[in-house]
Amino acid sequence: MLSFSKILFTALIVVVVWQGFKLFNRAKQVSAQEQPKQTRHAKQAKSQKHEAVAHDLVKCPKCGVYHADGSAHVCDR
Ligand SMILES: [Zn+2]
Repeated sequence: MLSFSKILFTALIVVVVWQGFKLFNRAKQVSAQEQPKQTRHAKQAKSQKHEAVAHDLVKCPKCGVYHADGSAHVCDR
């Protein structure tokens, strides 16, 4: 009975350590991936701005529809 509880305890420790390492590695990967992701997003945003004319969308306070800033908007609802 003692050996069984010992095995159980050892298994528990292994699982805890394994899960801890998994969490630790995931956190490390996330922090490492966040930097290049952000730069890629910034590049995409820059290229999109260069290609297309940006329209600032404003949300209508009455109906909640997004429309181009300055353009005439008539509420349907
Ligand atoms: Zn509206």
